[in-house]
Amino acid sequence: MKTQIELAREGVVTEEMKAVANAENLSQEFIRCGVAKGEIVIPNNPSRQDQKFAGIGTGLRTKINASIGTSSDICDIDLEVRKALAAEEEGADTLMELSAGGDLDLVRREVLAATKLPVGNVPLYQAFCETARQTGDPNNMDVEFLFELIERQLADGLSFMAIHCGINRYSIERLRKQGYRYGGLVSKGGTYMVSWMGANNRENPLYEQFDRVCALMKKYDAVLSLGNGIRAGAIHDSHDRAQMAEMITNCELAELGREMGCQMMVEGPGHVPLDEIEGNIMLEKRMSGNAPYYVLGPLPADSGAGYDHITAAIGAANSSRAGADLICYITPSEHLALPNEEDVRIGVRTTRLACRIGDIAKYPDRRENEKQAALARRDMRWDDLNKYLMFPDTANEIRNSRMPAQADTCTMCGDFCAMKRGTAIFKDDMTGDKITVNGQ
Ligand code: SF4
Repeated sequence: MKTQIELAREGVVTEEMKAVANAENLSQEFIRCGVAKGEIVIPNNPSRQDQKFAGIGTGLRTKINASIGTSSDICDIDLEVRKALAAEEEGADTLMELSAGGDLDLVRREVLAATKLPVGNVPLYQAFCETARQTGDPNNMDVEFLFELIERQLADGLSFMAIHCGINRYSIERLRKQGYRYGGLVSKGGTYMVSWMGANNRENPLYEQFDRVCALMKKYDAVLSLGNGIRAGAIHDSHDRAQMAEMITNCELAELGREMGCQMMVEGPGHVPLDEIEGNIMLEKRMSGNAPYYVLGPLPADSGAGYDHITAAIGAANSSRAGADLICYITPSEHLALPNEEDVRIGVRTTRLACRIGDIAKYPDRRENEKQAALARRDMRWDDLNKYLMFPDTANEIRNSRMPAQADTCTMCGDFCAMKRGTAIFKDDMTGDKITVNGQ
């Protein structure tokens, strides 16, 4: 079986590319070219017949990932299925199933059966969890078991995987030489791999046997997302030498994987101050040859716990504007607890809004929806306005809870509605839905 990137290079427009072109209102040739160059990926797995397709990459709408999954403390498969469905209902484009508690094969299969979203995971979680259960020490993880596990998970229908190939002895050496970090290590898979490498005095097998990883991903046409195991977990660690060493390696691997015919994506960067976000995106794009960039926010402050969905949304709007392609949501429970169903809904909505803000800046020619929303608001066409709002249910709930005496206004200004008065003053200066002042 050939992968999307191999087919695109041969000039073939696949059904997956057609679906993405249709969803993005772009030409099929644009999508095919992007896939051929490795600037667009389409998470895929032919074993899932009814999966939705989300294009991720240059020229496309910024996509939103929602991560769910059990932990060793909270393990409720029904809850995880409800969280998956909530994420899909709220508009997530992809889902990551990141369970680390309970029967991990069962959770994954139940989630895959429940959702139509492309589903990804981090295979190292299950590898270390099961090794710890069986032997009492995750450092006993067997390399062959890890590769068998990756194949087992792909065979279940996963469309992308975050795999920590870029951690190697060189990047760990940078971590030692610069001194340990303000924010420590924050990637579960990354930290346990660093521990395994030290305990076994071995190189990372996912780095050493990168071609084997790519061969497995190619077999299922899944996207290999190069995990960011040494990402900064504090703004003071942002862009330190260890993080950059891993980023450079991941960018090299992205190129290598593409050459092998594998769909590749790069991950980053954790906590980053606002003034460094644009530079981070530019570096990834430049060094990887425009591989799609999957970012976690980033979070531009370390002190917002309880409202970190907002912290991350501010980072996400900036990273989307600067060129990030897929953004992992952050929920209000980030840094505090396993997200519940309501957290998932809030996380997806907040990240969708952040990505919309980023896309408005990134694509100035795609602002028609915002113009129509403004016009409907100006003309007090409340029913029409709903068509252009991202969250009309919440907007209506708030408005209906405090209705004004004059139904065309709202209770914010009531009798002194500026919109109503302004429209009355300038009604003769408007042509259709266009204001004559600037002809826009
Ligand atoms: S009452 Fe005030 S807030 Fe409400 S529509 Fe009019 S101008 Fe806007």
